[in-house]
Amino acid sequence: MEVAIVLSRHNSRKEARMLISAAKTLGERKISLWYFSNSIEGMNKLPVDDIIWMPISEDFLPYQLLPALKERYDEFSPDVLIFADDYTGNNLAVELSYYINGTYIKGVTDIKKLFSGYLFAKRVYGLHLESQREYNSPPYLLSIAKDSFEEIRGDGLPNIKKIKNTTFKASRNRKFIIHKKEKDRDLADFEVVLIGGRGIGSKNNAKSLVYLAKLMGAGVGATRPAIYNGWFDLSCLVGASGKSVSPKLCMVFGASGCMPLLLGIKKSQKIIAVNIDPYAPIFDNCDVGLVDDCNKVIKSLIERFESCGSNRSELVHKDFKVK
Ligand SMILES: Cc1cc2nc3c(=O)[nH]c(=O)nc-3n(C[C@H](O)[C@H](O)[C@H](O)COP(=O)(O)OP(=O)(O)OC[C@H]3O[C@@H](n4cnc5c(N)ncnc54)[C@H](O)[C@@H]3O)c2cc1C
Repeated sequence: MEVAIVLSRHNSRKEARMLISAAKTLGERKISLWYFSNSIEGMNKLPVDDIIWMPISEDFLPYQLLPALKERYDEFSPDVLIFADDYTGNNLAVELSYYINGTYIKGVTDIKKLFSGYLFAKRVYGLHLESQREYNSPPYLLSIAKDSFEEIRGDGLPNIKKIKNTTFKASRNRKFIIHKKEKDRDLADFEVVLIGGRGIGSKNNAKSLVYLAKLMGAGVGATRPAIYNGWFDLSCLVGASGKSVSPKLCMVFGASGCMPLLLGIKKSQKIIAVNIDPYAPIFDNCDVGLVDDCNKVIKSLIERFESCGSNRSELVHKDFKVK
């Protein structure tokens, strides 16, 4: 299996050497550098097996690199892609992760190879704690926290392949940037907002939530973990680091109700929360609470909305018990 390190001309050789060290901890595998830059100077003797060089002359936004990145992914299908923990790296990782149904982990500080998978560590809660978690469903898209790994020493003689006709501009082909219509219309403008949390559990379930939102004419928001898992677009982030909403109705599915999220939804006129944990903090901060599997509730709401066509009066509240 191959591991790909994705870098652009904004990254230094020092950073590249650090990311190669991180890639080496994944075990014996072929390491490729996928490099977006007008010049390969400085990177051509790095100790990797291959360099896929995609010349780009103008300055760029991360999304403009996505088509080329996707092409390379379709060609080589590495099970791990490593990015720098910077604006371009994290944006590329989260967007590609959505497209390839991968697991995106931001700011990885340590990697351990296990018998069946990997242990990835990262800092959480304002960098005060380190969390370690076992993962066993690739592909993984990791952004590596700065200075987490020693820079690898020495040079190499990589095979360099220059991609002549790289596809850059994504503006005409943005089909993998989801919720385009919702993105165009600001989340703050919707009267009803549906928010998906980690309890949504998968990208397919996230798609069901998006479909329900479409049926209800609602906007879609998401918590940070649900976005970092690649289930929702980055633009859906609601909370302290994302958008604040103040709809007439905010429905929160599978989110615990941590303070950063509450800051983004507290101005909603009514909050309905669905969570399997009766002690989830969201139940202290909502008007109506339902202790249930959120995906079952989403499914039954979809059935109700689909069956009633345009006659949608009194639909939502019949399904919910007041706390
Ligand atoms: C500086 C900083 C800024 C942050 N900014 C934001 C921000 O802007 N927005 C944000 O969202 N987070 C932000 N966070 C992260 C925040 O602290 C929480 O980690 C995050 O909100 C938790 O998201 P969650 O509720 O989806 O996940 P979790 O806390 O893991 O909760 C998942 C919930 O889903 C429930 N669940 C599981 N399965 C099901 C099911 N089948 N049906 C129903 N319920 C289920 C569980 O009981 C649990 O309550 C920030 C953190 C920091 C440190």
